[in-house]
Amino acid sequence: MALDWCDGSPAEALARRSFDLHAELAQRIDDEWGYRRLDTLGVVTSARRDVGFYRKLAAPDWLAGDAAVHARLGTAETTAQVNPAAFTGAVMRAALAAGARLTIGTVTGLVQGADGAVQGVMVDGQEIAGDAVVIAMGPWSALASQWLPLPAVYGLKGHSLVFRYAPTPVPHALFVELETEAGTLASPEVFPRPDGTTYVCGLSSEAPLPVDPAAVVPDEGGAARLRAMTAQFAPALGGAEVLAEQACYRPVAEDGLPLIGAVPGARVPMWRRATLCGDAERPGYGRGGRGVDRRRSGQDRGPRALRSGTARAARGGCRAGGGLAPKSHQSRDLPGSCECHAR
Ligand SMILES: Cc1cc2nc3c(=O)[nH]c(=O)nc-3n(C[C@H](O)[C@H](O)[C@H](O)COP(=O)(O)OP(=O)(O)OC[C@H]3O[C@@H](n4cnc5c(N)ncnc54)[C@H](O)[C@@H]3O)c2cc1C
Repeated sequence: MALDWCDGSPAEALARRSFDLHAELAQRIDDEWGYRRLDTLGVVTSARRDVGFYRKLAAPDWLAGDAAVHARLGTAETTAQVNPAAFTGAVMRAALAAGARLTIGTVTGLVQGADGAVQGVMVDGQEIAGDAVVIAMGPWSALASQWLPLPAVYGLKGHSLVFRYAPTPVPHALFVELETEAGTLASPEVFPRPDGTTYVCGLSSEAPLPVDPAAVVPDEGGAARLRAMTAQFAPALGGAEVLAEQACYRPVAEDGLPLIGAVPGARVPMWRRATLCGDAERPGYGRGGRGVDRRRSGQDRGPRALRSGTARAARGGCRAGGGLAPKSHQSRDLPGSCECHAR
């Protein structure tokens, strides 16, 4: 999570509020979800060329010697992390303790009055009445457009690994610009967690979203490729025991901004989708169109640090939901780099 990476975008206030609220919740709720502030570093690594030119800061000692830290993208004042599953569980427990009721099931439709006003939802064939409905089905919110006139939402697939590995002594989140021996460009992200594990994600793909969320599985060979990339810039981490191989889909809207607010014409329900800018490893990710986060237009055609001084923004534009893309790339470009524009 970042305090200020959405500054200057329409999501600035939302991102800042979210950052502060996470700190507040960590204080207020007596539970544990690995919240902590930490520094975030921008790292460049290439198996094809010397990137030493970009080295601006000393690298943590668990990184490969040829990995260059080109920037401090965030400090403990501006970047923080959570374990998302633990966070979700803890907040749910807190809600239950405060009187909420949890029903686990599949929402199959809305209950609407003759005037179109939403009166509840159908969950596994049973009606649950309500005076407001919040649609928060992530990329599966697209299915809710069968019920309501909703903006388009797409699913962008990502992969992740959880390693049994705890870098010492000080944890750093890493946003890595990586070039493989084969010339493939990738942008893995690394988050050491307080529980002695390290989460690494990346490797986006445009594999279609399965209708059933339980059917999401990693692409064939995805975990091995992500592990190999990890070993390129952090050999001990890449060689550590893998505790989980995961895939997930993040929701992406046409304009790249979070979809939050009332559904036009539906009178009562709220439409919410918290979306984030994603990673994109494949060249062409930023082309725009279906399943593509256009905020990162063109950003994945070359290691960003090699292309631009705007690495922080480039690392995901507004990573907490805004529409910020780097305005321009300057010198030091690799072939294939490009201009990106604020949306
Ligand atoms: C690899 C990766 C890295 C990311 N990194 C970051 C990051 O660093 N920082 C950040 O802030 N965000 C990050 N994100 C994005 C973040 O995870 C998503 O934006 C966030 O999870 C979206 O939350 P959500 O609740 O809207 O949707 P989801 O988390 O997708 O949850 C939707 C839920 O709805 C359920 N569902 C779907 N259909 C139905 C139905 N009919 N009935 C009942 N339930 C249903 C699904 O099973 C799912 O549990 C990342 C995402 C990925 C994939």
